[in-house]
Amino acid sequence: MQTNSFYNEILTEHNLRPDFRRDLPGADIVLDGVNPSCGDEIQLKLKTDGDRIVDGAFLGDGCAISQASVDIMLGMIIGKRKEEALRLADIFMRMIRGEASEEEIDSLEEASALRDISHMPARVKCAMLGWRTMKEALTGRSPEGK
Ligand code: ZN
Repeated sequence: MQTNSFYNEILTEHNLRPDFRRDLPGADIVLDGVNPSCGDEIQLKLKTDGDRIVDGAFLGDGCAISQASVDIMLGMIIGKRKEEALRLADIFMRMIRGEASEEEIDSLEEASALRDISHMPARVKCAMLGWRTMKEALTGRSPEGK
Protein backbone atom coordinates (compact mmCIF):
# COMPACT_ATOMS: atom_id res chain seq x y z
CA MET A 1 0.00 0.00 0.00
CA GLN A 2 1.24 3.44 -0.95
CA THR A 3 1.47 6.09 1.69
CA ASN A 4 0.48 9.73 1.71
CA SER A 5 4.09 10.79 1.70
CA PHE A 6 4.58 8.89 -1.55
CA TYR A 7 1.77 10.92 -3.11
CA ASN A 8 3.19 14.14 -1.71
CA GLU A 9 6.56 13.29 -3.22
CA ILE A 10 5.00 12.99 -6.66
CA LEU A 11 3.30 16.37 -6.30
CA THR A 12 6.47 18.01 -4.97
CA GLU A 13 8.55 16.55 -7.77
CA HIS A 14 6.20 17.88 -10.45
CA ASN A 15 6.29 21.32 -8.85
CA LEU A 16 10.06 21.51 -8.50
CA ARG A 17 10.83 19.94 -11.84
CA PRO A 18 7.82 20.17 -14.12
CA ASP A 19 8.23 18.28 -17.38
CA PHE A 20 5.95 20.45 -19.48
CA ARG A 21 6.09 23.98 -18.10
CA ARG A 22 7.37 25.71 -21.21
CA ASP A 23 6.20 27.48 -24.29
CA LEU A 24 5.11 25.48 -27.31
CA PRO A 25 5.53 27.32 -30.58
CA GLY A 26 3.27 25.89 -33.25
CA ALA A 27 0.59 24.75 -30.84
CA ASP A 28 -2.72 24.55 -32.69
CA ILE A 29 -4.87 24.54 -29.55
CA VAL A 30 -4.32 27.17 -26.86
CA LEU A 31 -6.78 27.67 -24.04
CA ASP A 32 -6.65 29.55 -20.76
CA GLY A 33 -8.05 27.98 -17.63
CA VAL A 34 -8.78 29.83 -14.41
CA ASN A 35 -9.79 28.72 -10.94
CA PRO A 36 -10.81 31.97 -9.24
CA SER A 37 -11.53 30.32 -5.88
CA CYS A 38 -7.80 29.67 -5.39
CA GLY A 39 -6.21 32.06 -7.90
CA ASP A 40 -4.85 29.30 -10.14
CA GLU A 41 -4.22 30.14 -13.77
CA ILE A 42 -2.93 28.02 -16.62
CA GLN A 43 -2.50 28.37 -20.32
CA LEU A 44 -2.67 24.98 -21.93
CA LYS A 45 -1.05 24.43 -25.32
CA LEU A 46 -1.53 21.35 -27.44
CA LYS A 47 -0.21 20.33 -30.82
CA THR A 48 -2.40 17.87 -32.64
CA ASP A 49 -2.10 15.84 -35.80
CA GLY A 50 -5.52 14.71 -36.89
CA ASP A 51 -6.95 12.76 -34.00
CA ARG A 52 -3.71 12.51 -32.03
CA ILE A 53 -2.14 14.81 -29.43
CA VAL A 54 1.51 14.93 -30.51
CA ASP A 55 2.85 17.50 -28.05
CA GLY A 56 1.75 19.69 -25.18
CA ALA A 57 2.91 22.26 -22.68
CA PHE A 58 1.59 24.74 -20.17
CA LEU A 59 2.36 28.07 -18.61
CA GLY A 60 0.81 28.85 -15.31
CA ASP A 61 0.77 30.21 -11.85
CA GLY A 62 -1.04 28.84 -8.85
CA CYS A 63 -1.01 26.39 -6.00
CA ALA A 64 1.06 23.20 -5.97
CA ILE A 65 -1.93 20.96 -6.65
CA SER A 66 -3.13 22.84 -9.71
CA GLN A 67 0.31 23.04 -11.29
CA ALA A 68 1.31 19.44 -10.51
CA SER A 69 -2.01 18.17 -11.80
CA VAL A 70 -1.65 19.76 -15.23
CA ASP A 71 1.99 18.63 -15.51
CA ILE A 72 1.04 15.04 -14.70
CA MET A 73 -1.89 15.24 -17.10
CA LEU A 74 0.28 16.31 -20.02
CA GLY A 75 2.62 13.39 -19.40
CA MET A 76 -0.35 11.07 -19.72
CA ILE A 77 -2.08 12.48 -22.80
CA ILE A 78 0.81 13.33 -25.13
CA GLY A 79 0.95 10.69 -27.85
CA LYS A 80 -2.61 9.59 -27.21
CA ARG A 81 -5.73 9.97 -29.30
CA LYS A 82 -8.09 12.75 -28.30
CA GLU A 83 -10.82 10.31 -27.36
CA GLU A 84 -8.42 8.46 -25.04
CA ALA A 85 -7.41 11.75 -23.39
CA LEU A 86 -11.07 12.58 -22.86
CA ARG A 87 -11.69 9.13 -21.40
CA LEU A 88 -8.85 9.68 -18.90
CA ALA A 89 -10.31 13.09 -18.04
CA ASP A 90 -13.66 11.48 -17.26
CA ILE A 91 -12.02 8.90 -14.99
CA PHE A 92 -9.93 11.59 -13.29
CA MET A 93 -12.96 13.75 -12.59
CA ARG A 94 -14.87 10.78 -11.21
CA MET A 95 -11.90 9.89 -9.01
CA ILE A 96 -11.83 13.42 -7.60
CA ARG A 97 -15.55 13.14 -6.89
CA GLY A 98 -14.89 9.81 -5.14
CA GLU A 99 -16.84 7.82 -7.75
CA ALA A 100 -14.14 5.89 -9.63
CA SER A 101 -13.39 2.20 -9.04
CA GLU A 102 -9.98 1.01 -7.80
CA GLU A 103 -9.28 -0.40 -11.26
CA GLU A 104 -10.04 2.95 -12.89
CA ILE A 105 -7.85 4.78 -10.37
CA ASP A 106 -4.99 2.38 -11.12
CA SER A 107 -5.32 3.19 -14.82
CA LEU A 108 -4.57 6.84 -14.02
CA GLU A 109 -0.98 6.00 -13.07
CA GLU A 110 0.72 9.08 -11.58
CA ALA A 111 -2.51 11.06 -11.59
CA SER A 112 -3.81 8.67 -8.96
CA ALA A 113 -1.51 10.59 -6.57
CA LEU A 114 -4.33 13.13 -6.45
CA ARG A 115 -6.99 10.70 -5.30
CA ASP A 116 -7.05 12.05 -1.74
CA ILE A 117 -8.24 15.39 -3.06
CA SER A 118 -11.69 13.84 -3.02
CA HIS A 119 -11.53 14.34 0.77
CA MET A 120 -10.49 18.00 0.42
CA PRO A 121 -13.43 19.85 -1.17
CA ALA A 122 -11.60 23.18 -1.21
CA ARG A 123 -8.89 21.71 -3.48
CA VAL A 124 -11.13 19.88 -5.93
CA LYS A 125 -11.19 22.77 -8.42
CA CYS A 126 -7.38 23.04 -8.20
CA ALA A 127 -6.92 19.40 -9.15
CA MET A 128 -9.53 19.57 -11.92
CA LEU A 129 -8.29 22.77 -13.58
CA GLY A 130 -5.89 21.21 -16.09
CA TRP A 131 -8.21 18.36 -16.98
CA ARG A 132 -11.25 20.59 -17.33
CA THR A 133 -9.29 22.97 -19.57
CA MET A 134 -8.04 20.08 -21.71
CA LYS A 135 -11.56 18.74 -22.10
CA GLU A 136 -12.83 22.16 -23.16
CA ALA A 137 -9.93 22.56 -25.55
CA LEU A 138 -10.56 19.24 -27.28
CA THR A 139 -14.32 19.39 -27.44
CA GLY A 140 -14.39 23.03 -28.49
CA ARG A 141 -16.91 23.77 -25.78
CA SER A 142 -15.12 26.88 -24.63
CA PRO A 143 -16.85 30.16 -23.88
CA GLU A 144 -13.68 31.80 -25.21
CA GLY A 145 -13.86 29.99 -28.55
CA LYS A 146 -13.73 32.20 -31.59
ZN1 ZN B 1 -5.35 25.93 -6.21
